[in-house]
Amino acid sequence: MPIDRSRYPKNWNLISYFVRFTRAKGKCEFCGAEHGKPHPTTGSMVYLQAIHVKHTLEANSWEDYKAACQKCHFTYDRRASQMARRYGKCYRDTQLDLFT
Ligand SMILES: [Zn+2]
Repeated sequence: MPIDRSRYPKNWNLISYFVRFTRAKGKCEFCGAEHGKPHPTTGSMVYLQAIHVKHTLEANSWEDYKAACQKCHFTYDRRASQMARRYGKCYRDTQLDLFT
């Protein structure tokens, strides 16, 4: 599925950089894995991503973003999908902070 860039903030690249390298100092905010180095668990090279913790692209607070390695991004999205399937979409909007 193609990414709908029109839903991202206009300054997304700057937000993403700030979250990953200024606030998180180049480390995953979930597990501490360092960008550009092998992941301590998987051994794969870590490429930090800025993720939306509430799963809304229109997020507008710094707390709505986290720096995550690929492993933690996948795990976070998988848990959110499981909870949304189990409890419905409204769960996604109100309860994801429990996982952070
Ligand atoms: Zn991680």
